[in-house]
Amino acid sequence: MAEILDGKKLRDKILEELKARLENYDKKPTLVVILVGDNPASRIYVNNKKKTAEKLGINSIVINYPSDVDEQTLLAKIEELNNDKNVTAILVQLPLPPHINKFNIINAISPKKDVDGFTPENAGKLFTGEKPYVYPCTPRGIIRLLDEYKIQIEGQHAVIVGRSNIVGKPLAQMLLQRNATVTICHSRTPNLADITKTADIVVSAVGGKIIGKNMLKSGCVVVDVGIFKDENSKTRGDVDFDEAVSVASYISPVPGGVGPMTIAMLMANTVELFEKACL
Ligand code: NAP
Repeated sequence: MAEILDGKKLRDKILEELKARLENYDKKPTLVVILVGDNPASRIYVNNKKKTAEKLGINSIVINYPSDVDEQTLLAKIEELNNDKNVTAILVQLPLPPHINKFNIINAISPKKDVDGFTPENAGKLFTGEKPYVYPCTPRGIIRLLDEYKIQIEGQHAVIVGRSNIVGKPLAQMLLQRNATVTICHSRTPNLADITKTADIVVSAVGGKIIGKNMLKSGCVVVDVGIFKDENSKTRGDVDFDEAVSVASYISPVPGGVGPMTIAMLMANTVELFEKACL
């Protein structure tokens, strides 16, 4: 039976450490979240971020715009926040409505306040091997979770299913920097199972139930990033947990695995941007 990669337990430990670190400062960091429209999932994510930030003593401001807001209004707000010395970190909750060009919006955030690490400067530094101001939260959380359980990365074959800018691509770079051999798969990859079966570490970031035990090598490590609601409105991951748990050596559950780590890393990134701005 696989050991569980417990993201909740590690999140709590990280948040305690961050809280203690912030007690050394007279000032508090301020995290500003821009939320456009009323996507229920986005609203839940933003509320969780706000609640967690406040527990740590981070000021958290959510600016909510209607779904028909224009790009110029968002760009003007980001410029104002970039220039505001009291603002530590800026996060634009994705997805944005289709009439807004998400690249224009992300590119406008100052790299020094880009708490998600998505701006071209931070993403570019990650890809060239230079240290970005911060690393993207979900990939950073995955690596932190693997490290907590002392899972070997160097020399291992890591197969990532999903090639998004927020998970698959940055995670591939971070695993490469840790000397893994990395394969990225996506919706046009033929014979996915043939590839995942060769993996020592499988990371799935798709958003649908696609990984069963017949796709896994015995003893592999399984990290499930996907989150979706099944036909009974139950929160599920990409991996058939009940099957995979009997094949893998370690597995992250959904919920309780990568999700809590993403929030913990968002807080860690906010604190790091704050400390860089203070020093
Ligand atoms: P995304 O941008 O929609 O990317 C999904 C990726 O999965 C794409 O690369 C897509 O391939 C690939 N894909 C889709 N169907 C596939 C299939 N049948 N076989 C192989 N690959 C397939 O999603 P995302 O933003 O990366 O998020 C992925 C999932 O992770 C979602 O469920 C999301 O909610 C979850 N997520 C969780 C956290 C967390 O903190 N736990 C954080 C971020 C995301 P193409 O590129 O070819 O379309």
